[in-house]
Amino acid sequence: MYQVTKVIHFCYGHRLLNYEGKCRHLHGHNGKVEIELSAPRLDRRGMVRDFTEIKQVIQGWIDENLDHKMILRKDDPALPGLKELREPLYVIDVNPTAENLAKLIYDETKRQGFPVTLVCLWETESSFAVYQPTATAAARSGQRQTRSQATRAS
Ligand SMILES: [Zn+2]
Repeated sequence: MYQVTKVIHFCYGHRLLNYEGKCRHLHGHNGKVEIELSAPRLDRRGMVRDFTEIKQVIQGWIDENLDHKMILRKDDPALPGLKELREPLYVIDVNPTAENLAKLIYDETKRQGFPVTLVCLWETESSFAVYQPTATAAARSGQRQTRSQATRAS
């Protein structure tokens, strides 16, 4: 199996409903998303997918929909006021946690036709969430190790 990962940075605001921690108030993050694509064989260019193509399509979608937007659940009481102020919003059905944002980006990447196998959303330098629908426990723990090593190195 061949795998490539594209890293995309974006800024977003959110808040979590039914939650008692700091994230219950409107605030923002400098987020980083890792998008992993997998293929059993390479194409005639010797690639899983061209990094430039991933960047154009997926970063394009993120820039347009999520970057510098306030991402809120559809029943968030702040929505009517922010809409009235014409603030840039992205509204989703579920709480905008790192886990749900990872799944959102996974689903969009899949919808765009990429062979995505994992999306990892870093909310801060020390916290990330992974969405990987077909992961085995062994593969997951291996990836976690790789990622924490990468974090220490940076
Ligand atoms: Zn937050």
